[in-house]
Amino acid sequence: MKALVFHGPGKSSWDEVSDPAVEDPADVIVRVDTVTICGTDLHILRGDVPDVAPGTVLGHEAVGEVVEAGADVRTVRAGDRVLVSCITACGRCSYCRNRSYGQCRAGGGWVLGHTINGAQAEYVRVPFADLSVHPLPDSVRSQDAVLLADIFPTGYEVGVLNGAVRPMQTVVVVGAGPIGLAAVATAKLFSPGQIIAVDRATARLDAAERLGADTKVAAGEGPERVVSELTDGLGADVAIEAVGVAETFEMCTRMVRPGGHVANVGVHGGPAQLHLEDLWIKDVTVTTGLVDTYSTPMLLGMLRAGRLPVSSLVTHTFDLGEMEDAYDIFSRPSETRALKVVLN
Ligand code: NAD
Ligand code: ZN
Repeated sequence: MKALVFHGPGKSSWDEVSDPAVEDPADVIVRVDTVTICGTDLHILRGDVPDVAPGTVLGHEAVGEVVEAGADVRTVRAGDRVLVSCITACGRCSYCRNRSYGQCRAGGGWVLGHTINGAQAEYVRVPFADLSVHPLPDSVRSQDAVLLADIFPTGYEVGVLNGAVRPMQTVVVVGAGPIGLAAVATAKLFSPGQIIAVDRATARLDAAERLGADTKVAAGEGPERVVSELTDGLGADVAIEAVGVAETFEMCTRMVRPGGHVANVGVHGGPAQLHLEDLWIKDVTVTTGLVDTYSTPMLLGMLRAGRLPVSSLVTHTFDLGEMEDAYDIFSRPSETRALKVVLN
């Protein structure tokens, strides 16, 4: 089969590789029909995620058809159209029993396109299928469902839920890429008082506005001053960091009000400063984490009910064989205005 293979920092190609096979009775093999590229794939290519071995097939967001199921798989069978979650979970270890699927001790967690071959391929082996793939109702389109493999659960769980967004609160989302936009869209479900989106790119701020942000602020136009003015000098109740650089994380810790929450979502390739000397007396809660995807069934229900504006995130579509072109477009968003590129 063909697959997008990582060959070390800065290098990847659409290569011929061997087909995956069931290795464990809990595995399924999925024929990939729809797949996307994630900001995290670009982090891997930049060398920010050092434990990805050259030779690994990238990708962790896909929809496809189960073509083979191991003997222990109970929830899906061959022929089912499924969403492949970016997180796989054994369902039995102490972390999985606590819904911390990302920390699965039995070989799950974020493994696809990371420590095992991923989904940017014609076929993918998905371990622990019972919890790691979700059957899709006919009414849900594959190109919409694929956005629930990673970006929507991430924006929702690591941004909005960790940030404890409540009605009438001021939520500032720094970084209006796909993840930040998913945080804007899912924060909206809690009827916040206002959502302020911060980004460097005008096209992304426009997308944030379409998804429900009340105020958009260019990164160079003093976001800290704007947040202060819009909150009577107090600061935001919740600041969600969806970039992954020290500068924006530190900005979030300055933009939050006393008693507020900073929810870091970004994957950081280096350290950021945490000014505990300021934060302790302000009672600020700082959270971070890897997505667990425990919210995926609920988000699928919202999608089915037409209450998640997922399709406005897709800017480009390609055939599966055009993976290298898709990477090229996705990695130059300031020129191409790409948000999410979908291949099918
Ligand atoms: P992205 O790169 O598409 O979006 C980042 C956005 O930040 C861009 O729109 C960019 O213009 C903006 N930006 C860059 N520098 C900025 C600055 N100084 N000020 C304001 N905005 C700035 O990435 P994405 O796919 O939306 O993902 C966001 C982050 O979330 C990434 O770091 C990604 O790796 C991470 N992520 C985390 C998890 C998790 O489980 N925690 C899962 C998936 C992705
Ligand atoms: Zn991802």
